[in-house]
Amino acid sequence: MTRDEKLGPSTSCVHVGSEPDPAHGAIAPPIYQTTTYAIPNVGELIARYRQRKPGFTYTSTGNPTQRLAEIKIAAVEGGEDAAVFSAGMAAITATITTLLGQGDEVLAQGDLYGETFHFFHMLQEKMGVKTHFFDTANVAKVESLINDRTRLLYLETPTNPTLKLVDIAKGVKIAKKHGITTVLDNTFASPMNQRGLAMGVDVVVESATKSMSGHHQAVCGVAVSTAERIRKIKSMRGQYGQTLDPFAAWLLAMGMQTMALRVERQNSNALSLAKLLEGHPKIRRVHYPGLESHQQHALAKRQMKGYGGLLAFEVKGGLDEVTRMFDHLKLVKLATSLGGVDTIATIPTISTHGSLSPEEKVKMGITDSLVRASVGIEDFEDLKRDFEEALSFV
Ligand SMILES: *Cc1c(COP(=O)(O)O)cnc(C)c1O
Repeated sequence: MTRDEKLGPSTSCVHVGSEPDPAHGAIAPPIYQTTTYAIPNVGELIARYRQRKPGFTYTSTGNPTQRLAEIKIAAVEGGEDAAVFSAGMAAITATITTLLGQGDEVLAQGDLYGETFHFFHMLQEKMGVKTHFFDTANVAKVESLINDRTRLLYLETPTNPTLKLVDIAKGVKIAKKHGITTVLDNTFASPMNQRGLAMGVDVVVESATKSMSGHHQAVCGVAVSTAERIRKIKSMRGQYGQTLDPFAAWLLAMGMQTMALRVERQNSNALSLAKLLEGHPKIRRVHYPGLESHQQHALAKRQMKGYGGLLAFEVKGGLDEVTRMFDHLKLVKLATSLGGVDTIATIPTISTHGSLSPEEKVKMGITDSLVRASVGIEDFEDLKRDFEEALSFV
């Protein structure tokens, strides 16, 4: 079944792009684990290479299992087309490089995923593409940084690890006024909770390693936009060599089938856990956009359908107290990454944000007692018991 505007998000996740396999009627699609394709004759060779007739030629440029994932993702994000990549960072770097040229300038929020932040610095040092960083909570201020070289506004919301929000509509409005392209990293929200393209964003990028594939099994990334932009981004993907292996593409496409259900459960588990921890005597503070105490809760209500599976909290005390909690958690594992079916948690000051300077950590609100949790799809009562027991040792 191809895209149908009338299908709801859960039905789209299951059915779009999927047809029973023509050879045997298999409901689960085969994995096209091949690098190349026999082309029936020279006329067809000419058509595929010179006239861009649809049809596969080499897996670095396209593969049927990749295509299945791309069709599902485009439908769920509400875009014309999508490209899958070998990692979230591959999608991000190929997209950014496609959109920029020599001497261009970028506007990006101060709180960014670490590797994206390093990539913008690398572009400046090695390629002469300058990035101006603005205060994440105050996107209205970007207007003063715009000049005739500004080409790209880069957003990421909610942010890692303290779940700050960027006002997408406000950013898009300013960008449109000045003819600037907007890119949104939607990884933390997932397309079930936040639809960037519907808000006027030009390209949505995501680490599909997280909620889209959803089982902590495959490293992969996606970009979604107009067919024309995706064609250019795929050309960059080929030059960088960022193709997604067919097996990982299959894991992604299969994971996508349950994304709507998984994210719904993660939203409700995370909200329940945020409320539980907010009222807990051993916890100083909880960061979760779904809590009324979140500074940008009103904005979260406006631009998100659900508040996501990610939350951060500060344990009273410091690293010793956090260590005691982790020593006694049984179900919840100490692990990086997010968006999967298992609840995992990490200590950003050591792991994900370990390379930042003490000043940068203070600026981003990253303390020794900050824990970031990615809430899974378990029964909430079990998560509750695990956290309550572990915190009783703090
Ligand atoms: C994980 C992540 C990335 C990078 O994705 P990879 O698949 O690890 O390359 C980018 N942005 C955000 C917000 C992420 O959480």
